[in-house]
Amino acid sequence: MTGWPPLRDDLRGLAPYGAPQLDVPVQLNVNENPYGPSEKCAADIARAVGDAAATLNRYPDREFTELREALAGYLNGSGGSGITPDMVWAANGSNEVMLQLLQAFGGPGRCALSFAPTYSMYPEYARDAVTEWVVGHREDDFTLDLDHARSLVLERRPSVVLLPSPNNPTGTALPPEAVSALCEAAGDGLVVVDEAYGEFRRAGTPSALELLPLHRNLVVTRTMSKAFALAGARVGYLAADPAIADAIRVVRLPYHLSAVTQATAIAALRHADELLAKVDELREERDRTVAWLRSRGLTVADSDANFALFGTFADRHEVWQQLLDRGVLIRETGPSGWLRVSIGTAQEMESFRAALTEVLDTPHEEELR
Ligand SMILES: *Cc1c(COP(=O)(O)O)cnc(C)c1O
Repeated sequence: MTGWPPLRDDLRGLAPYGAPQLDVPVQLNVNENPYGPSEKCAADIARAVGDAAATLNRYPDREFTELREALAGYLNGSGGSGITPDMVWAANGSNEVMLQLLQAFGGPGRCALSFAPTYSMYPEYARDAVTEWVVGHREDDFTLDLDHARSLVLERRPSVVLLPSPNNPTGTALPPEAVSALCEAAGDGLVVVDEAYGEFRRAGTPSALELLPLHRNLVVTRTMSKAFALAGARVGYLAADPAIADAIRVVRLPYHLSAVTQATAIAALRHADELLAKVDELREERDRTVAWLRSRGLTVADSDANFALFGTFADRHEVWQQLLDRGVLIRETGPSGWLRVSIGTAQEMESFRAALTEVLDTPHEEELR
């Protein structure tokens, strides 16, 4: 060991993941739902947390039985059918769920696979779980090149394949045939379809939940952070073969889901319809945003999520900075030259359009593009 603190060699010099948290008027950078819970819903959550407070001397239900039942019920009304509580697992955000999957099913001598550009946390789970990271490519329009994907799976035999649908940061959803083909190619390796943005998918785009009865190696993860407007509560979950949910228990920390978290999530799920009510509005706002960006001559990836990836700019950092100077925070992410904007309220999107119009119409536009 050299240096202080005695960090793992492969972690030395690395920066922690995270977008800038800046206090600006229009925050469109981390794909949050711009609408908070109603007063009634917030009061219900506060009451549930208040009840839990009286028993905080005790450890919480380690198996979060009531929450699993509520999540199974929700999934059966959100693209799934026949999902039972023993098929559900939950943790502090779907990030923790996926890390646990890598801890349980990855490890030394094994590899995990995804297709770039994709969510930048995936290689970090692999690294933290001491799992080799293998990355394939996507087509120029960010759809999956299925022949390439299948042959990479057959060649590398990953124990976990991470397939976001819709993908972040591109917004690209996966057709069910592709998910099925990769489940078959993966053999006993797990295929994790990360549906963090599943509720925002366009009409006619099915959820991978429908495929659960067909593939025992398929895992579908969801989160309450995005469409569900509950990012601050940190609740993510999965549905899979009960044997998979059961196996994760070996690597989870004891009582990983606090009594406060469980009470919050259960109360929020009683208000699912209300919390999700703005999803249709956000989908329309997304389609309007995509159309407007295209009308400005920009290239925009087709999006099934609550964000749009657009470009391309010779100096994307300068465009990002100029928007920030006008009080609009978006995300510098994705392949070089591209920027990602999360979909906010109609008013926030108006501010975004006004700011971007100013930036694009300034004399040095040619240098930015
Ligand atoms: C936001 C996001 C998640 C969910 O994160 P949480 O930990 O549940 O808040 C998962 N996957 C992708 C691709 C995301 O963008």
